[in-house]
Amino acid sequence: MSDFQDEVEREIVYDHYRRPRHGGQLGAGAISLDNPSCGDELRMSLTGEGLVEFRFEGKGCSISQASASMMAELLSGRTREEALALAERVLGVFRGDLDPASLEDLGDVAVLSGIAKLPVRVKCAALAWQGARRLLKAG
Ligand code: ZN
Repeated sequence: MSDFQDEVEREIVYDHYRRPRHGGQLGAGAISLDNPSCGDELRMSLTGEGLVEFRFEGKGCSISQASASMMAELLSGRTREEALALAERVLGVFRGDLDPASLEDLGDVAVLSGIAKLPVRVKCAALAWQGARRLLKAG
């Protein structure tokens, strides 16, 4: 059972990696982020009045890129306040401050809760969400 669950989670990650949501066509004010410990790179932009729209492009491991796709999918189409609250929730789980179950109602993002237990990979997964927080707070 646990093996099956892992396989489903892996498939969700690879699906986002292969077919990124909200990829490309960056808006103005894009920021660059990197995670030197793994070689992950992201450029991200936030546009939109009222409801925000995230776009990103990047290269790196499947977790970093899939996490960016999940971030853009989850946070786009929300108000700044909603998006920031969700980003803080995800980052709280990555830091170990929040129970991983806090992500259960967030769709595909829930698979990232397992990564929070892997100190090496959590930096990969957190990159996009740290960028989202930076962009949301800058506005
Ligand atoms: Zn990585």
